[in-house]
Formats: sequence, C-alpha cells, structure tokens
Amino acid sequence: MTTTPTVPATPAEALRGLCAGRVHLPGDPGYDAARTPWNLAVDQRPAAVAIPHSAEEVAEVVRAAVAAGLRVAPQSTGHGAGPLGEVALDDVVIVRLSELTGVTVDPGARTARVVGGTLWHDVVAAAAPHGLTAMHGSAGDVAVAGYALSGGLSFYGRTHGVAANSIRSVEVVTADGSLVRASASEQPELFWALRGGGGNLGVVVALEIDLLPYADVYAGMLLWPRDRAPEVVRAWAAWTDGVPESVTTSLRVMSFPPLPELPPFLSGRQLVVVDGAVLEGDERAAELLAPLRALEPEMDTFARIPATGLVAVHMDPPGPVPAVSDHAVLASLPEEAISAYLAEIGPGTTTSLMFAELRHLGGALGRPVPDGGAISHVDGAYALYCVAPAPSPEVAALGRADAVAMCAALEPWTTGGRLVTFTDGAVDISTGFGENWDRLRRARADVDPTRVFVANHGV
Ligand SMILES: Cc1cc2nc3c(=O)[nH]c(=O)nc-3n(C[C@H](O)[C@H](O)[C@H](O)COP(=O)(O)OP(=O)(O)OC[C@H]3O[C@@H](n4cnc5c(N)ncnc54)[C@H](O)[C@@H]3O)c2cc1C
Repeated sequence: MTTTPTVPATPAEALRGLCAGRVHLPGDPGYDAARTPWNLAVDQRPAAVAIPHSAEEVAEVVRAAVAAGLRVAPQSTGHGAGPLGEVALDDVVIVRLSELTGVTVDPGARTARVVGGTLWHDVVAAAAPHGLTAMHGSAGDVAVAGYALSGGLSFYGRTHGVAANSIRSVEVVTADGSLVRASASEQPELFWALRGGGGNLGVVVALEIDLLPYADVYAGMLLWPRDRAPEVVRAWAAWTDGVPESVTTSLRVMSFPPLPELPPFLSGRQLVVVDGAVLEGDERAAELLAPLRALEPEMDTFARIPATGLVAVHMDPPGPVPAVSDHAVLASLPEEAISAYLAEIGPGTTTSLMFAELRHLGGALGRPVPDGGAISHVDGAYALYCVAPAPSPEVAALGRADAVAMCAALEPWTTGGRLVTFTDGAVDISTGFGENWDRLRRARADVDPTRVFVANHGV
C-alpha cells in the first residue's frame, strides 16, 4: 500500500483564503512561482506568499500573520532579495506587491501617486505625456518602493540628489494592521525613518513622489573594446573630477557571453562602457563630452532622447536573472586605485565578473538635505558595484569571490560606508545610515516593537 505524504498544518494555514485565495503555502501549486524573486539566484522559502490587490488586503494579511505568530516581509520585485535567501524564513510571510500597482500623475503639482509595487518604467511612461520624468535608476523593472525607500541612485542624481528625497508622503500598513499616512506634517518621525528604513517599518501601499521637469535628456553611452580600458578608465576618472553637477555617469568594464539574444556589439565581447546623462543643452553637453569622444569610441549613442529612453541606456537585463554582487563606496579614485581596479578586471585578467561598475557620486548626491529622511545623501566620490552571473551555486561562489576580491583590492580607498540599494548579502547595514543609525533603530522600535517586519536589510 502506498501512502501520500501530507504536508503538516502550519501557522500559515490561518492565512488561507485571504487575498481572494492568492496566498500560497509550501506544497501549493503556485508556491514556487510566487516565492521566486527577480534575482533567480535567491532561494527564499517563506511560510507563505500573499499577493494582495488592495491596501485592505495588505492590512488583513498583516493582522492574520501577527495573530498566527508569523513575521511579514514586504517585497515588490525581489531585485533586492539577496539577503532573504541567506536566512530562515519559515516563520515569515512574504507580501508580494507585484499586483498592487498604479500611477496617477498630478502635472500641476509635478507629483505622482505611485501604488505599492509599481515599477519605474510605468511611472516614467505615465509622466512623459506631461513633459515630466522621475528619479528612476538604471533599470525600469525595479520597483519605486524598494529603490526610493532605500536611497536610490539615478542618472539625475548629481543634480537632484538621492531618490529618497523625492518622496513627499508614504501610505504604510504598520505592525498592528493599521493604514497610516506619513509626511512632513503627519507622523513626521515615521516619515523620516521610512525614507531609508523602508521595509523595516511596514508594508508601503502608496508613495507620493516629486517628478522632474524633463521631457527629453542628453544621454547615451560610449563603448570601447576592453583593451582600451587602461586609457579609458584613467581618462574618465580625470574627467569626472572636473565635470559639473549636471553630469552623472557610470563606467563599467564588462564581459558578455556569446548569446544569440544579445546584439552583435555585445555578444561574446569584453568592453569598457561609459554611460549616463548630461542635463544641459546639446551644445554644452557635446562640449562636456568632448574629452571622452576624443578617445574615439567604437560606438557613441549620446544624443538628445526622450526622457523615457533613459531607463534603457544602461542595458540592464530585460527580465529576471541569477546574479551575485558586492559593492563599496570609494572616497577617491587615484592612480593607485585605478591600477588596482585594472589588475582585477583590465586587459589580460580573467574574472567571472560580468561587470565592475564605477558610478560617479558627489554633487547633490553628497549633500545632506535638511528635511530629508534616514538616507538623504551619500558620502563618497564613486560607488563600486561588482556583479557576476550565478546560474548555479558553484558559479555563484566563484562570482561572489571575484566581487569580494575586487572590493578588497580597492579597500584602501573605501569610505567604509554602504549604499543600501547596492548591498546584496545579509551584512551589517549600519554604515549605510551613518550617524542616523541609532535614531532609525529607535524609530523602528517605536513603530514595530515586536519586530514583525523583515526587510532585506534589517534595522
Ligand atoms: C538590474 C538592477 C539594476 C539596478 N539599478 C539600480 C540603480 O540604478 N540605482 C540604485 O540605487 N539601485 C539599483 N538597483 C538596486 C535596487 O534599487 C534595489 O535592489 C532595490 O531594493 C530594489 O527594489 P525592489 O522593490 O524592486 O526590490 P525588492 O527586492 O522587492 O525590495 C527590496 C526591499 O525593499 C523593501 N520594499 C520593497 N517594496 C516594498 C514595499 N512596498 N513596502 C515596504 N518595503 C518594500 C523591502 O525591505 C525589500 O526587502 C538595481 C538592481 C538591479 C538588480
């Protein structure tokens, strides 16, 4: 006689039937699809995944989870899921916001109300008909919430600061299941904490953000073969030292596998790429880019483009991929640091990294904002972000080792700080908040004393 193994009843059974049945427990047919984050290398195994369609459904899930002795992890896309694959989640309900989306633009006020799990490309598309855009990052399929509530580095950054500063108000379901609005005048301490502390304080069901007055932008990329990296990296480092705050760019030494779905200029190639935006008129932008163009790139796409095109300039993957990464914030990029960088990824080296990126910081990104939140600026001159593909645990281990090695090689020039959005593993995140860390911990203890919420980076 054969017996069918039965999955034992768990506390998460109490959530069944909520969200009109969109609650998936281990063993359910929809569980694996629901628990899979954007970063496919992350194997997160929660007690349940709930997929709400309204703020009321979010509140019901939070109340039921707390009553059942469970914790709650808000997640929009899972771009930042890395740390949740490294910790036990058997008492955690993931609240996936991917089906709770929508954007309403107020062109007069130059703001948008963005529902909890909305992606940046939907905000950019909704703002564009009004000649407006938003403080998105390099990828349009990142969610507004996880990015902006954790700081958010944009190609508009050196002019307009971190994206967290563009948040006007937040609607959040807190640990007791109530829906609270936080702004400069309502629950100001919670508002301060959310702008950096994000998913540690509740499930955000809507945000009101400032939009930017750009219908088009001078943006693009310059691309050379990797053997030009030594001169290009040195030229870009010297150039970034002198450019005005209207210029925000990134440099990456990159390796692409030979894949038929990639365009020929990328497939199987090793490259050095500079990309970003210059918030100037065409003539002034061309004048500013001249020293890089003098290096005769193989490809030069810098031109005036509709602002909607800026989410495609960085060529981030169009959909979910498995990846691992490490990062550091650099105080400077002198010749010794450039040599150390090139020794890890320059011509003649072998590495499993897909890219090692240097993003130019400074300008408005470096200035604290008086009415800002727990993250309102970044101390440092460049962000180093190293990413490797991770199709299997073995390849992931190799990639992580190479990412860690690159960060270690540049350690003498690091600030010791962190960018919360670029932090991958379950690490001490306190240096991402500097002197605001203790205040943030107190704010979290006030609003979530029993630590119901599980963010990717715990406060
Ligand atoms: C391809 C790629 C490109 C990127 N480009 C940039 C970039 O240009 N600039 C930059 O700064 N970062 C960038 N990032 C990092 C990205 O901003 C972070 O991973 C960010 O946390 C992703 O937000 P998410 O909501 O999409 O991801 P999620 O993994 O869903 O969320 C990350 C965390 O945010 C919190 N959170 C998410 N949604 C909610 C919510 N509704 N309520 C409460 N908390 C919530 C949770 O704590 C969650 O663990 C990039 C990442 C990738 C993979």
